[in-house]
Amino acid sequence: MPGTRIPEEKIRETIAFHGHWCPGLATGIRVAEVALERVGRAGDEEIVAVAESDTCAVDAVQFLTGCTVGKGNLVLQNIGKMAFCFYRRRDGKAVRIVSRPGFSRGSSEEYRDLQEKSNSEILSEEERARFRHLREEHCSRILNAEIEELFSIGQPSKPVPPHAPMKRSLLCESCGEMVMETKARLSDGRILCPQCFEIEVPRP
Ligand SMILES: [Zn+2]
Ligand SMILES: [Zn+2]
Repeated sequence: MPGTRIPEEKIRETIAFHGHWCPGLATGIRVAEVALERVGRAGDEEIVAVAESDTCAVDAVQFLTGCTVGKGNLVLQNIGKMAFCFYRRRDGKAVRIVSRPGFSRGSSEEYRDLQEKSNSEILSEEERARFRHLREEHCSRILNAEIEELFSIGQPSKPVPPHAPMKRSLLCESCGEMVMETKARLSDGRILCPQCFEIEVPRP
C-alpha cells in the first residue's frame, strides 16, 4: 500500500500544531517520514536538519522529527527551495530530500488559478468552496503518493552544520539591552546592537 506511514493521530496532532491543513504541511509530513526512516528521530539520535525554505512544511518537520529552530538542530538556510537535509552526527549518515517539480505545483490548473486569484482578490462563496475542495484533494494526493513520486532523495552537497555553541551576550552601549556577541557591532569603539548601529551609522 502506498501512502504515509505516519499514524493518523500524529497527523492530526501535526495539523493542530501548525493551525491548518495545507499541501505544504502534507509535504512536510512526508519529508519527516523519510527522515525518520533514514536517520531517526532527534532526541533518540543527534540529528541536524537544514531547511532550504521557510514554508508550512517546516512545521511538520519540527513537530515530527524533533529538530527545532529553538534547539538549534533545525537550521533555516532559506534559498527558496522545497528541500531538506538531515544529518546524523553519530555516523555521518545524511540525506537530502527535494520536492519533484510536478507534485508541488498543485493538482490542476483550476487549483492554481484559484490560488492565484485568492492572492489578489476575494473569492466568491462558490469559488472558496471549490478551492477548499481541490486543496483537500491535493493534500490527500500528497499523503497517499509513493515517496518516489514526491521527492528525489540523494546526498547533501554540504557537510553537517557545526554545533551551535552558547554565545556570550554583551550590553549595547546605546539602548542598554543585551545582544549576542556574534550580532554586536562596533562603532567608534562602542559596542552597539544591530538596531542602534542602524540608527547611528545609517547606510549610505
Ligand atoms: Zn500551512
Ligand atoms: Zn542597542
